[in-house]
Amino acid sequence: MKYRVIYTHPNPKSFNHAVLEAVMEELEHAGADYEITDLYAESFDPVLVNSDIEALRTGTPSEDIVLEQKMVSEADMLIFIFPVWWFSMPAILKGYTDRVFSAGFAFEITEKSVSGLLEGKKVAIFNTTGGSSEAYDNYGYGDAFRKCICEGIFRFCGMEVLLQHFLYAVPAVTTEEREKMLEEVRILMRKTVIINN
Ligand code: FAD
Repeated sequence: MKYRVIYTHPNPKSFNHAVLEAVMEELEHAGADYEITDLYAESFDPVLVNSDIEALRTGTPSEDIVLEQKMVSEADMLIFIFPVWWFSMPAILKGYTDRVFSAGFAFEITEKSVSGLLEGKKVAIFNTTGGSSEAYDNYGYGDAFRKCICEGIFRFCGMEVLLQHFLYAVPAVTTEEREKMLEEVRILMRKTVIINN
């Protein structure tokens, strides 16, 4: 089982980074085969430009995309860690999906059908929020987020979403509550994400 962690936060002292550290510790502890993609640290170019679209037509994507697609192809499970920004993903990660999960690589549309090409891969997602769990439940933000991201992106591409977990109101809660959240992440990694085979 090969894991690829796709981490998105600009600040190496952020709470999201603490989540990344907890995830890595659990993977290390399990002796798992894993690698990290750190989109900000790697200055990933998120802008899908016309030359990308042309390259898709001729089957010659740019080198950075070939490399990212190879890393996705080699992974059995993708673990995403990112904050909710405007009830979606940070723009750099949205741009990653625009450019990397391209037609012909991640999905295929023919006259008769649409099919995901990344079948067999699993996905786990850890998200931090500014909003409370009550706001997410009362206004349907959580359901909307899951519809658009878990279904609209990952299931559309054929992947199975094993876990999507919100860590709510991260900036507003106490340090102790945040530490409990990191413990929750560790437990979820052990119980749901790390597959021993
Ligand atoms: P940070 O701000 O980095 O950290 C939060 C706190 O955790 C800090 O006090 C930090 O010191 C502390 N911390 C760091 N490490 C640890 C550790 N190891 N143990 C304990 N504490 C630690 N929220 C929504 O709900 N919906 C939205 O639509 C939304 N839109 C946004 C749009 C933008 C552009 C931005 C910038 C924010 C938005 N937010 C939204 C809020 C955002 O989701 C939260 O600010 C974010 O999820 C918090 O995570 P962080 O890693 O950035 O936290």
